[in-house]
Amino acid sequence: MFYQIYNRGCPSNFQGLEPSLLFCMIYLSEYLLQIIVLYIQFKLGPRSFIPKCFLPKQYNYYRVLNIEEDYEECAICLTSLIEDPFDQQVPTDKLILKQAMQTPCHHWFHPSCLRSWINIKMQCPTCRSELPPLLE
Ligand SMILES: [Zn+2]
Ligand SMILES: [Zn+2]
Repeated sequence: MFYQIYNRGCPSNFQGLEPSLLFCMIYLSEYLLQIIVLYIQFKLGPRSFIPKCFLPKQYNYYRVLNIEEDYEECAICLTSLIEDPFDQQVPTDKLILKQAMQTPCHHWFHPSCLRSWINIKMQCPTCRSELPPLLE
């Protein structure tokens, strides 16, 4: 970036190119526009420019887990679904119902595990089928 600005902005550049204020203004405003777009995406999310009608349908993964039934373990952290390793606020013996997340392909995960997984990959960790976006 600075090389181009030097070539077209410095009156005595070593390539001997004629300085052009218009070129420098267009060149710098292009970078400024990119910075503004990145800032808006950082503040409002990466998909904030896409109209809602073009976005894929969001899916509610949350289900209530009845701990008296026997569920498979969470395939991400390999611990029981009844105990959430990242949620130690409520002791397990006091819980009757607990929230877990179930994918459309009927696989169960801890909410904290699946949320961090979805941030990296939109595929089911167990069967690799496509996952819809998480309902915010
Ligand atoms: Zn887990
Ligand atoms: Zn699956």
